Amino acid sequence: DPRIKAISDAIRVVPHFPKPGIMFQDITTLLLDQKAFKYTVDIFVDRYKEKKISVVAGVEARGFIFGPPIALAIGAKFVPLRKPRKLPGEVISEAYVLEYGTDCLEMHVGAVQAGESVLIVDDLVATGGTLSAAIRLLGKELEVHCSSSSTIILDQINNIYIFEHVFLERVGADVVECACVIGLPQVKGNWTLNGVPLYVLVEPR
Ligand code: IMP
Repeated sequence: DPRIKAISDAIRVVPHFPKPGIMFQDITTLLLDQKAFKYTVDIFVDRYKEKKISVVAGVEARGFIFGPPIALAIGAKFVPLRKPRKLPGEVISEAYVLEYGTDCLEMHVGAVQAGESVLIVDDLVATGGTLSAAIRLLGKELEVHCSSSSTIILDQINNIYIFEHVFLERVGADVVECACVIGLPQVKGNWTLNGVPLYVLVEPR
């Protein structure tokens, strides 16, 4: 697809931003190139228009640029997944680990109903930590393995540790796919995050 090269060529690389050693992939130059921006949206729209998706969820901040035109074109609603303390209403939150510290994605309660089909959109996937948090927030119940001390004491003789399954209530939507403009070469192809397929257009430049 010749459109892929045009998209890749329109992305600017800014070395040592925001800190030394990082090759920052800057999509603002892609937005300046009307053809390349349209190609980007068109490819996603072609892929998702027949998939009965009712929600496009965009990750703050650059998921707010690519998500809405896709949502309008495929006839879905757009839901922003925001950084903490930005949304005025009642929220559900999902924390995730960063290189230094943690961050959090939040969504308004009731914005997405259980059973709805959701596409998650962001500009770039690196470790997949951000998208995994988005999937946990929107998806079916989260399974946590936690050991109960009483169970461990009972089973010390056999050296067996019994784990309990605890299910945390989440939105319960059906996350169909995660779509990103840019992804590291190792995530291109058939990568999944928490069992959800990941679709990526170009590699970092
Ligand atoms: P991950 O959680 O490690 O996959 O990082 C992905 C998140 O970091 C996305 O929300 C991106 O917007 C952001 N990000 C990381 N590196 C870059 C970059 O070089 N350009 C634009 N966004 C980036």
